[in-house]
Amino acid sequence: MMKTSTDADIVIVGAGLVGALLGLQLARQLPQLSLVVLEAADAPTRFDATRVDPRVVALTENSVAMLRAVGLWDRVAAQRVSPYTHMTVWDGEGTGRIEFDGALVDRPQLGFIVENSLLVSELQQALSYQPNVQLLMGEQVAEVQLPSVNGDDQFGAVQVGLANGRQMTAALVLAADGGNSTVRALAGMAVREWDYQQQGIVTTITTERAHDQVARQRFMKTGPLALLPLTTGATPGHQCSIVWSADCARAEAIMALDDDAFCRALTDAAEGCLGRVTAADRRFSFPLWQRHAVDYCAPGLALVGDAAHTIHPLAGQGVNIGLKDVAALVTEIERALSRDLPLGCMATLRRYQRARKADNLLTMAGMEGFKRLFGADSHWLRWLRNEGLRQVDRQPLLKRALIHHAMGVKAP
Ligand SMILES: Cc1cc2nc3c(=O)[nH]c(=O)nc-3n(C[C@H](O)[C@H](O)[C@H](O)COP(=O)(O)OP(=O)(O)OC[C@H]3O[C@@H](n4cnc5c(N)ncnc54)[C@H](O)[C@@H]3O)c2cc1C
Repeated sequence: MMKTSTDADIVIVGAGLVGALLGLQLARQLPQLSLVVLEAADAPTRFDATRVDPRVVALTENSVAMLRAVGLWDRVAAQRVSPYTHMTVWDGEGTGRIEFDGALVDRPQLGFIVENSLLVSELQQALSYQPNVQLLMGEQVAEVQLPSVNGDDQFGAVQVGLANGRQMTAALVLAADGGNSTVRALAGMAVREWDYQQQGIVTTITTERAHDQVARQRFMKTGPLALLPLTTGATPGHQCSIVWSADCARAEAIMALDDDAFCRALTDAAEGCLGRVTAADRRFSFPLWQRHAVDYCAPGLALVGDAAHTIHPLAGQGVNIGLKDVAALVTEIERALSRDLPLGCMATLRRYQRARKADNLLTMAGMEGFKRLFGADSHWLRWLRNEGLRQVDRQPLLKRALIHHAMGVKAP
């Protein structure tokens, strides 16, 4: 096959939420750069307003601000977003409960539930209009060759080979190709991972009682169940997107239920908090992994979003920490350019790693701690977590700090 060559300052691999926003921010803030964005999917993501995408994300105030800064939030909000004003978390095996409300931090809402396809379609469209961006669909990376290094010196550019035989050269490659990152594997970057032996089941449901814009999460020994309020549907205020995590055998059994039995099982699992579950859309399930790259960078290469870290969906923070990576990476690239440093130099990429790794580790450790605490059988741990939830619920200052942290904003 004939090989052609395309040169770009930066190649971004993956045009999901993280890669597309990264491309858009770089293109807008640094118009002197030439960017290529490679996406494996054959066609751009389309948002179908006649149905609810089972894949949703809970966006924090910080993530919304980033979308607003690239001029997309108003377009997204005009189509379909679901604010949630309150969150209730409770222990399914005990009596502990904690309530968070936007009013506690003087906000009309705690965050927004948004369909993944709506966000990605808007981001990809905006990206395709950028004069300094080439968005190439249906392109898979098959080979990555990093520059050679001698001491502090780096030689040459990154070579990227595509599955169709095409070769590209770039000063910097940014891997935003998700949890199973091909680029990370091709570059031989180590990852610490553990299989939760759980599946996450997602679907959209209709409930007897209105959700009143409250996000609900019930922790059970077998895994958490989240009910995220949506503003869609024939009976507005009665639809939720769910993420039900369960051990693999139980998840398979749940997936095999017919719709009526599924609705009954879900009503029980949710302790009837919204009355009966009266209908459910098609269900999808995903294996749940925790993954963290040992390093986020190599000469000429940085990992971003799920390619660097994949976390349990129990706190809905995956995308939000990925978007914080984007902000840090753009800052460091801008800084490198302003100082005439080569784009892919390790000094710049290590600054990005330092800016993000500790925060990501903290979030991951928090998720893991929560998961283990609620998965424990011990009578003492059960008592401790119920008492802990009750104590935290009585401390408005602590709750305010927790909400600010979860929203990704600094406390005033
Ligand atoms: C069940 C579930 C519920 C979740 N709920 C939430 C939530 O409420 N809030 C939240 O913040 N997060 C949530 N998450 C996590 C969130 O979905 C991810 O963190 C987020 O999608 C990561 O974005 P990303 O762009 O890094 O990766 P992805 O969304 O995985 O995008 C990667 C992109 O790269 C492309 N790609 C892959 N390989 C290649 C290749 N070799 N070459 C070119 N392109 C490639 C893919 O096609 C894709 O478009 C949830 C996850 C799951 C599984």
